[in-house]
Amino acid sequence: MNNRTIGICKLCKKNKKLCNSHIIPKFTINYLKRTSATPYLRYGLTPNIRRQDAIKIPLLCEDCEEMLSKWEDKFSKEIFVPFKEKNLSQIKYKKWLPLFAISLSWKILIEDFEKFQKEYPSLKKDIIIVENSWRKMILEQKPDTEKYEHYLIFLNKFQNNKNILLPPKLYRYLLRSCDGCIVSNEKQTKLHCYTKLSNIIIWSCIKPPNIKEYRKVRIKLQGTIKASQIIKNDAKIGEFLIRRAEYVTNLYNKMSTKQKDKIKNLMFKNPQKNNQIRNI
Ligand SMILES: [Zn+2]
Repeated sequence: MNNRTIGICKLCKKNKKLCNSHIIPKFTINYLKRTSATPYLRYGLTPNIRRQDAIKIPLLCEDCEEMLSKWEDKFSKEIFVPFKEKNLSQIKYKKWLPLFAISLSWKILIEDFEKFQKEYPSLKKDIIIVENSWRKMILEQKPDTEKYEHYLIFLNKFQNNKNILLPPKLYRYLLRSCDGCIVSNEKQTKLHCYTKLSNIIIWSCIKPPNIKEYRKVRIKLQGTIKASQIIKNDAKIGEFLIRRAEYVTNLYNKMSTKQKDKIKNLMFKNPQKNNQIRNI
């Protein structure tokens, strides 16, 4: 507790002691560690680094951290764990779900901003605007689900419509990896925010503010969402996931042999668990 940094909290903007905040919520990391053949987490933002834990940065003061962790707990208990372990078919939710989705996308925006704005400079202004807007919604606990839409996508079925050759590590990526980034296109006309918690995705639209095809899984102020969806590889998000899986796999391939051997050895020691990872 004594070695905490003093600095400006990115959320309330007050000068306070800062916590080492997880970008990907801790419950996801703990679950993956508990059920993994290796205590290794492949994290898309920096997948070339073997991590015992996911990225933690001094981001929030204790009060803000506590506010976000309430929504994270609720998501873990009502959606993440029941979906993973109890065949969840439908979710009933209230205001905590849009608040969780917005706070998760907001954290990704903060984490990925520096790198992204160098690659896509024309979208810098848009990110600053949406960051301000989401920060206000989180602080006031008043989510606006009309201005920018957010979607909750469950990756339990992936349909290979085009019968194309899929990347060899695709299913491992779809089911197990944690990932998150700001998403755009070559023309720099689109802007989205993507977070993947094992096989659940939170997708936030900024520019355009919605995707018509995904309205069924839209997060509103309250409502119900089916926990069974088919992702087709010819759909927009399906294509993106294939490219992302290739990217993460390529980064893995660039790892040193020593790092790869360490992972292989750990898997070999625990073959039963490793088979479970291969199962779809
Ligand atoms: Zn704060």
